[in-house]
Amino acid sequence: LEFRRVLFRSAGASDILARARIVPTLDEAIADCGLVIGTSARSRTLSWPMLDPREAGEKLVAEGMEHPVALVFGRERTGLTNDELQKCHFHVAIPANPEYSSLNLAMAVQTLCYEVRMRWLEVQNQEPEDERVEYPSAQQLEGFYQHLEQTLQKTGFIADDHPGHVMSKLRRLFNRARPEAVELNILRGILTSVQKSRAQD
Ligand code: SAH
Repeated sequence: LEFRRVLFRSAGASDILARARIVPTLDEAIADCGLVIGTSARSRTLSWPMLDPREAGEKLVAEGMEHPVALVFGRERTGLTNDELQKCHFHVAIPANPEYSSLNLAMAVQTLCYEVRMRWLEVQNQEPEDERVEYPSAQQLEGFYQHLEQTLQKTGFIADDHPGHVMSKLRRLFNRARPEAVELNILRGILTSVQKSRAQD
C-alpha cells in the first residue's frame, strides 16, 4: 500500500505509523524485547507454554513497564513458521470455534490489542495495594469541624459566639494535612475524651 492510503486507513493513529520500523528479519524486530509472545490459531506439532488472550494482556502490560515486549503475528496465508514460533517465550491462541479457529490477521491483532488495552486501563485505575488509603468524606470532615468547635467552646479556648478566625485557620490546617479516615477517627476520639473529662470536673 502506498503511504497515503496507509495513513488514511490509520484513522488518526499517525503517530504509531510514524514510529513503525520495518526490519528484514524477526530477529531484528524482537532483539531488544524481554518478552516475546507469538500468536497462533492452533498449537502445532510442538507444544509450547500457552496463554489465553487475557493472560497475554496481563503479562504484556506488567512486563512492558520493565522492558520492551513483543506480540508477534503471522502472515495472512501461512501464519508463523515453526522456526519463528520457537523464538517466542509463550504462544497465545484466541479460543475461537475449533471448526474454523483461524481468524483474519486484522481481527486477531484487534482482539489481542483489546486485551492489552483493557488490562492497561485496569492498571491505571489501580493504586498499588499498600498505598490505597481511605479518606473521609466532606460530610465526615464537616462533622469533625463541628465536634472540634463545640469542644473548643466548652474548654473556653474560643468564645461561644466568636469562633472568629480560629476555626478557619484550623480548617485550613486540617485540610492541608488531609487526614485519612483512620486518623480522623483518632482525632474525634481525642475530642470525645476531652468532653468526657470535662463532664467529670
Ligand atoms: N493458516 C495460518 C493462518 C494464519 S491467520 C495458520 O494456520 O497459522 C494470520 C495470523 O492471524 C496468524 O499468524 C496469527 O498471527 C493470527 N491469528 C489468526 N487466528 C488466530 C487465533 N485464533 N489466535 C491467535 N492468533 C490468530
